[in-house]
Amino acid sequence: DPVHAPVVIIGTGLAGYGVAREFRKHDSDTPLILITSDDGRSYSKPMLSTGYTKDTSASDLAQLDAGSMARQLKASVWTMTRVSAIDTANQVIKVGDTETAIHYGKLVLTLGAHVIQPPIAGDGMDLVYSVNDLLDYDDFRTAVHKNGVRKVCIIGGGLIGCEFTNDLLNGGFEVEVVDPLAYCLPTLLPEPAGRAVQAALEAKGARFHFGPLVTSVNLAEQGVVVGLNNGETINADLVLSAVGVRPRTDLAAASGIDINRGIVTDRLLATSAPNVYALGDCAEVAGQVLVYVAPLVAASRALGKTLAGEPTEVVYPPMPVTIKTPACPVVVAPPAIGAEGEWQIQADGQNVRAEFRSAAGDLLGFALTGDATKAKLELQKALPAILP
Ligand code: FAD
Repeated sequence: DPVHAPVVIIGTGLAGYGVAREFRKHDSDTPLILITSDDGRSYSKPMLSTGYTKDTSASDLAQLDAGSMARQLKASVWTMTRVSAIDTANQVIKVGDTETAIHYGKLVLTLGAHVIQPPIAGDGMDLVYSVNDLLDYDDFRTAVHKNGVRKVCIIGGGLIGCEFTNDLLNGGFEVEVVDPLAYCLPTLLPEPAGRAVQAALEAKGARFHFGPLVTSVNLAEQGVVVGLNNGETINADLVLSAVGVRPRTDLAAASGIDINRGIVTDRLLATSAPNVYALGDCAEVAGQVLVYVAPLVAASRALGKTLAGEPTEVVYPPMPVTIKTPACPVVVAPPAIGAEGEWQIQADGQNVRAEFRSAAGDLLGFALTGDATKAKLELQKALPAILP
């Protein structure tokens, strides 16, 4: 019976719970099922990299458990349950390796992104952590506290690496960071802005190794020894790998749904399969892969209406990203891939105002550090929409 066929959402991150909440604003009757391979606790993922600065444990970060979310959403929430296949012709999903099959009227994929595992040799891999969800966070914090850890080596000087560097320094730890590129946040910021962040973190005690790759992590008498491809070594108690994330596309691809960098959708968040939608970190929405909160909030609002029978395209306004490095605050609105223009940069110590402008003078992106972040609203107003 198509009228009563449930809406099924796979994933209970900010996108999964977000779209469930938006859908319930417009439709309180259609059965709603959320399925997650984790424990279904609701939490704000950006808080994972401010744990020492704000002194929060994993249980502090968990806002509500799966049962409370189910009641609030008038939904059933299946936890610790992996969806293993989607039969898009019959509108059925398979759960785990059991025979359990669930029919869906509409299916929403909010599968998130997985961390990239750099190729590293050695017998110390058990001491290499990555923090991409609440369960990872709990493991990492437990490891940090259990072993009398004083020094952490971070692989990657991008957004997550720099945020954890600042946070661990605030927690009283020593931090050394390795990144093959030349300065902090190299894929997001022009060099003077990245150097400002680097200088601020160094002033708090961080040490950076720019240029080399980490190639090995081996157990030492105490902690590990991290080997770099320039011959240097770093001794540390633990390693945190933060080299970036990739949209989770394997389930969709195996089910015959179109993928590119992410699960491909149009502006209705519709995938190539009928009645299957995607949003959040796993999705490539009209060509945009944006692994941040603001885009998934905009997408949740639009899809909540679409699922309730009012087809609504997503609009992406300008969405600057705030990077949580309190030693040197950063706000960045990267220019679109392939945008033509040049950086115009004013720097005064830690305060860098960088504007990316076209030949005609139009603002296409910006990067601000330190006190220059005060210009955020003014510049944001002058930016073009990402998806008008
Ligand atoms: P996720 O939260 O990853 O949810 C994915 C869900 O899918 C999970 O419930 C998982 O269990 C489930 N799942 C996956 N595969 C299956 C399967 N086969 N079967 C069943 N369930 C499955 N963004 C910002 O905008 N600002 C910030 O300051 C910021 N800081 C960040 C700091 C850190 C440390 C990290 C890691 C990210 C940060 N981000 C930030 C990014 C932001 O947190 C993410 O963009 C957002 O949380 C993604 O939400 P999501 O729901 O798409 O994915």
